[in-house]
Amino acid sequence: MVEAIKSGWITFKSIFIGMGVTIRHFFGPSVTLQYPDERPVIPDKARTKLYVNIDDCIGCHLCARACPVNCIYIDTVPATSDVDLGKTSTGNPKRFWLTRFDIDMAKCMYCDLCVHPCPTNCIYMVPDYEYSEFDRTNLIYHFSNLEPAMVAEVKEKAEKEAAEKQKQREEMMRKKAEEAKKKQMEAKKPPQQNTDGETGTKSDKSDNGDS
Ligand code: SF4
Ligand code: SF4
Repeated sequence: MVEAIKSGWITFKSIFIGMGVTIRHFFGPSVTLQYPDERPVIPDKARTKLYVNIDDCIGCHLCARACPVNCIYIDTVPATSDVDLGKTSTGNPKRFWLTRFDIDMAKCMYCDLCVHPCPTNCIYMVPDYEYSEFDRTNLIYHFSNLEPAMVAEVKEKAEKEAAEKQKQREEMMRKKAEEAKKKQMEAKKPPQQNTDGETGTKSDKSDNGDS
Protein backbone atom coordinates (compact mmCIF):
# COMPACT_ATOMS: atom_id res chain seq x y z
CA MET A 1 0.00 0.00 0.00
CA VAL A 2 2.77 2.42 0.95
CA GLU A 3 4.63 1.49 -2.25
CA ALA A 4 1.52 2.21 -4.39
CA ILE A 5 1.07 5.66 -2.79
CA LYS A 6 4.79 6.40 -3.29
CA SER A 7 4.79 5.50 -6.99
CA GLY A 8 1.53 7.41 -7.54
CA TRP A 9 3.10 10.52 -5.99
CA ILE A 10 6.21 10.19 -8.20
CA THR A 11 3.98 9.90 -11.30
CA PHE A 12 1.97 13.04 -10.44
CA LYS A 13 5.13 14.96 -9.55
CA SER A 14 6.70 14.06 -12.94
CA ILE A 15 3.55 15.18 -14.79
CA PHE A 16 3.51 18.53 -13.00
CA ILE A 17 7.23 19.15 -13.61
CA GLY A 18 6.79 18.34 -17.32
CA MET A 19 3.69 20.52 -17.65
CA GLY A 20 5.53 23.34 -15.83
CA VAL A 21 8.23 23.32 -18.54
CA THR A 22 5.59 23.24 -21.30
CA ILE A 23 3.63 26.17 -19.80
CA ARG A 24 6.79 28.22 -19.28
CA HIS A 25 7.72 27.88 -23.00
CA PHE A 26 4.09 28.40 -24.07
CA PHE A 27 4.10 31.94 -22.70
CA GLY A 28 7.76 32.69 -23.46
CA PRO A 29 9.10 34.20 -26.76
CA SER A 30 9.08 31.85 -29.77
CA VAL A 31 12.42 30.51 -31.05
CA THR A 32 11.04 28.80 -34.14
CA LEU A 33 12.09 30.30 -37.48
CA GLN A 34 9.54 30.38 -40.28
CA TYR A 35 11.97 28.89 -42.80
CA PRO A 36 12.36 29.65 -45.72
CA ASP A 37 10.78 33.08 -45.12
CA GLU A 38 13.09 33.53 -42.14
CA ARG A 39 16.68 32.34 -42.20
CA PRO A 40 19.14 31.77 -39.40
CA VAL A 41 22.24 33.95 -39.11
CA ILE A 42 25.24 31.73 -39.88
CA PRO A 43 28.17 32.19 -37.46
CA ASP A 44 31.46 33.40 -38.99
CA LYS A 45 33.32 30.14 -38.47
CA ALA A 46 30.47 27.86 -39.51
CA ARG A 47 31.46 24.80 -41.55
CA THR A 48 28.96 24.82 -44.35
CA LYS A 49 30.16 24.46 -47.94
CA LEU A 50 33.64 24.49 -49.44
CA TYR A 51 34.66 26.92 -52.12
CA VAL A 52 37.93 27.22 -54.06
CA ASN A 53 39.12 30.45 -55.61
CA ILE A 54 40.86 28.62 -58.44
CA ASP A 55 42.73 31.71 -59.67
CA ASP A 56 44.72 31.69 -56.42
CA CYS A 57 45.40 27.95 -56.34
CA ILE A 58 49.00 26.86 -56.99
CA GLY A 59 48.21 23.14 -57.22
CA CYS A 60 50.32 22.21 -54.20
CA HIS A 61 47.98 19.34 -53.14
CA LEU A 62 48.31 20.26 -49.45
CA CYS A 63 44.55 20.42 -48.98
CA ALA A 64 44.02 17.03 -50.63
CA ARG A 65 46.72 15.46 -48.47
CA ALA A 66 45.15 16.87 -45.31
CA CYS A 67 41.68 15.52 -46.13
CA PRO A 68 40.97 12.48 -43.97
CA VAL A 69 38.31 11.09 -46.32
CA ASN A 70 40.10 11.78 -49.63
CA CYS A 71 37.29 13.77 -51.17
CA ILE A 72 39.48 16.37 -52.90
CA TYR A 73 40.72 15.36 -56.34
CA ILE A 74 43.45 17.45 -57.95
CA ASP A 75 45.27 16.88 -61.24
CA THR A 76 48.01 19.25 -62.31
CA VAL A 77 50.15 19.67 -65.39
CA PRO A 78 53.40 21.65 -65.19
CA ALA A 79 53.39 24.84 -67.22
CA THR A 80 55.84 24.72 -70.12
CA SER A 81 58.76 27.17 -70.28
CA ASP A 82 56.99 29.37 -72.86
CA VAL A 83 54.05 30.04 -70.51
CA ASP A 84 53.88 32.38 -67.53
CA LEU A 85 50.89 31.59 -65.35
CA GLY A 86 51.55 34.64 -63.18
CA LYS A 87 51.14 34.91 -59.45
CA THR A 88 48.35 34.51 -56.96
CA SER A 89 46.93 37.48 -55.05
CA THR A 90 49.23 36.43 -52.18
CA GLY A 91 52.28 36.67 -54.44
CA ASN A 92 52.94 32.93 -54.86
CA PRO A 93 54.11 31.98 -58.36
CA LYS A 94 51.79 29.64 -60.26
CA ARG A 95 53.66 26.81 -61.97
CA PHE A 96 50.91 24.30 -62.70
CA TRP A 97 47.79 24.13 -64.80
CA LEU A 98 44.92 22.81 -62.71
CA THR A 99 43.34 20.35 -65.08
CA ARG A 100 41.08 18.99 -62.34
CA PHE A 101 40.02 20.32 -58.96
CA ASP A 102 36.96 18.50 -57.67
CA ILE A 103 35.51 18.28 -54.19
CA ASP A 104 32.95 15.61 -53.39
CA MET A 105 30.73 17.36 -50.84
CA ALA A 106 28.72 14.15 -50.39
CA LYS A 107 31.81 12.59 -48.83
CA CYS A 108 33.03 15.71 -47.01
CA MET A 109 32.67 15.61 -43.23
CA TYR A 110 33.12 19.36 -42.72
CA CYS A 111 36.21 18.99 -40.58
CA ASP A 112 37.87 22.11 -42.08
CA LEU A 113 41.27 20.36 -42.13
CA CYS A 114 41.81 21.21 -45.79
CA VAL A 115 41.40 24.93 -45.19
CA HIS A 116 44.27 25.53 -42.79
CA PRO A 117 47.30 24.20 -44.73
CA CYS A 118 46.49 26.18 -47.89
CA PRO A 119 49.40 28.60 -48.51
CA THR A 120 47.26 31.02 -50.52
CA ASN A 121 44.03 30.84 -48.46
CA CYS A 122 42.07 29.98 -51.57
CA ILE A 123 40.02 27.11 -50.15
CA TYR A 124 37.47 28.06 -47.54
CA MET A 125 33.93 27.55 -46.27
CA VAL A 126 31.19 29.82 -47.57
CA PRO A 127 27.96 30.45 -45.63
CA ASP A 128 25.75 28.39 -47.93
CA TYR A 129 23.81 25.51 -46.44
CA GLU A 130 21.02 25.08 -49.00
CA TYR A 131 22.58 22.75 -51.52
CA SER A 132 20.80 19.43 -51.20
CA GLU A 133 20.51 17.43 -54.43
CA PHE A 134 18.45 14.49 -55.65
CA ASP A 135 21.43 13.18 -57.60
CA ARG A 136 24.51 12.51 -55.48
CA THR A 137 26.88 13.23 -58.38
CA ASN A 138 25.69 16.84 -58.39
CA LEU A 139 27.45 17.22 -55.05
CA ILE A 140 30.81 16.84 -56.76
CA TYR A 141 31.92 20.40 -57.33
CA HIS A 142 34.25 21.16 -60.21
CA PHE A 143 36.47 24.18 -59.73
CA SER A 144 38.89 23.87 -62.63
CA ASN A 145 38.09 26.45 -65.29
CA LEU A 146 39.98 24.75 -68.14
CA GLU A 147 38.03 23.50 -71.15
CA PRO A 148 38.71 19.86 -72.22
CA ALA A 149 40.43 21.07 -75.41
CA MET A 150 42.74 23.28 -73.35
CA VAL A 151 43.47 20.40 -70.95
CA ALA A 152 44.47 18.19 -73.88
CA GLU A 153 46.64 20.97 -75.32
CA VAL A 154 48.55 21.73 -72.11
CA LYS A 155 49.04 18.02 -71.43
CA GLU A 156 50.46 17.45 -74.90
CA LYS A 157 52.81 20.43 -74.60
CA ALA A 158 53.97 19.36 -71.14
CA GLU A 159 54.61 15.78 -72.29
CA LYS A 160 56.57 17.03 -75.30
CA GLU A 161 58.72 19.31 -73.15
CA ALA A 162 59.27 16.58 -70.56
CA ALA A 163 60.37 14.17 -73.31
CA GLU A 164 62.79 16.77 -74.71
CA LYS A 165 64.25 17.43 -71.26
CA GLN A 166 64.61 13.71 -70.67
CA LYS A 167 66.39 13.37 -74.01
CA GLN A 168 68.77 16.22 -73.10
CA ARG A 169 69.45 14.63 -69.72
CA GLU A 170 70.21 11.29 -71.32
CA GLU A 171 72.49 12.92 -73.88
CA MET A 172 74.34 14.78 -71.11
CA MET A 173 74.73 11.59 -69.10
CA ARG A 174 75.97 9.71 -72.16
CA LYS A 175 78.60 12.41 -72.81
CA LYS A 176 79.69 12.37 -69.18
CA ALA A 177 79.98 8.58 -69.24
CA GLU A 178 82.05 8.76 -72.45
CA GLU A 179 84.38 11.35 -70.93
CA ALA A 180 84.79 9.31 -67.77
CA LYS A 181 85.57 6.20 -69.88
CA LYS A 182 88.13 8.15 -71.93
CA LYS A 183 89.85 9.38 -68.77
CA GLN A 184 89.89 5.85 -67.39
CA MET A 185 91.49 4.52 -70.59
CA GLU A 186 94.15 7.22 -70.54
CA ALA A 187 94.95 6.47 -66.92
CA LYS A 188 95.35 2.77 -67.78
CA LYS A 189 97.76 3.43 -70.74
CA PRO A 190 101.31 2.07 -70.07
CA PRO A 191 104.05 4.73 -69.86
CA GLN A 192 105.78 5.49 -73.22
CA GLN A 193 109.15 3.70 -73.97
CA ASN A 194 112.01 5.57 -75.66
CA THR A 195 114.36 3.96 -78.22
CA ASP A 196 116.92 3.01 -75.52
CA GLY A 197 114.34 0.99 -73.78
CA GLU A 198 114.01 3.60 -71.02
CA THR A 199 110.61 4.45 -69.78
CA GLY A 200 109.36 8.01 -69.43
CA THR A 201 107.67 10.80 -71.27
CA LYS A 202 109.16 13.47 -73.54
CA SER A 203 108.93 16.00 -70.79
CA ASP A 204 110.79 13.61 -68.44
CA LYS A 205 113.56 13.47 -71.00
CA SER A 206 113.77 17.20 -71.45
CA ASP A 207 113.80 17.59 -67.68
CA ASN A 208 116.81 15.28 -67.60
CA GLY A 209 118.61 17.33 -70.34
CA ASP A 210 118.36 14.53 -73.01
CA SER A 211 116.98 16.72 -75.77
S1 SF4 B 1 36.30 19.73 -44.79
FE1 SF4 B 1 37.44 17.87 -44.15
S2 SF4 B 1 36.42 16.21 -45.20
FE2 SF4 B 1 35.74 18.08 -46.20
S3 SF4 B 1 37.14 18.31 -47.93
FE3 SF4 B 1 38.01 19.47 -46.23
S4 SF4 B 1 39.42 18.02 -45.22
FE4 SF4 B 1 38.06 16.81 -46.53
S1 SF4 C 1 46.23 23.86 -50.57
FE1 SF4 C 1 45.35 25.66 -51.55
S2 SF4 C 1 46.86 26.18 -53.15
FE2 SF4 C 1 47.28 24.09 -52.52
S3 SF4 C 1 46.11 22.82 -53.98
FE3 SF4 C 1 44.81 23.12 -52.16
S4 SF4 C 1 43.57 24.91 -52.67
FE4 SF4 C 1 45.26 24.88 -54.10
